[in-house]
Amino acid sequence: MAGIIFLGPPGSGKGTQAQILAQSLAIPHISTGEILREAITNQTELGKQAKAYVDGGELVPDELLLDLIRERLSQPDAQTSWILDGFPRNIAQAAFLDELVAELGQSCQWAIDLKVPQAVLIQRLLLRGRKDDTEETVRRRLEVYEEKTAPLIEYYQQRGKLHSIDGDRTPEEVAEALKVLVS
Ligand code: AMP
Repeated sequence: MAGIIFLGPPGSGKGTQAQILAQSLAIPHISTGEILREAITNQTELGKQAKAYVDGGELVPDELLLDLIRERLSQPDAQTSWILDGFPRNIAQAAFLDELVAELGQSCQWAIDLKVPQAVLIQRLLLRGRKDDTEETVRRRLEVYEEKTAPLIEYYQQRGKLHSIDGDRTPEEVAEALKVLVS
């Protein structure tokens, strides 16, 4: 096995699915969103620097995350396989990850894009009720996704790593499709 990246827009179910898949493969699930939310709750230095960006639906500056990803992928439990959920989020982060993975002698095999229609995303995000899920932030997060993150679909397609999965189904059906894909 090797590294797996979850792309998908906010509300696509990537967090849930990344967690289920990581558990079933018994590999680390690394969610930058979760790491940031925890840092904000604990008011760590990272949390203080990230808060305004996360609250506003913007991406946090790359510098806040690059060292953190380097350290996490260097841990013993991440030497062969991992799931990255929410990273990379832009082309610069993807280029960084390519270099890092090569440097660490690892490989990333799949970039999974969960496809969900925009109207369904908005409905799901507003129902979810997370702190950064207010109507205005939801709109901004979807815009930021289109602008910064969606170009990664082509980036990974060009590298032969992209796999699109229909995310507009029950969580169980999506989980099953993902399991089949990586098995
Ligand atoms: P998520 O849980 O993946 O939707 O992430 C929640 C929020 O954390 C995002 O809206 C961003 O503000 C921030 N975030 C998470 N991952 C990244 C990343 N790779 N680069 C920049 N910001 C991120």
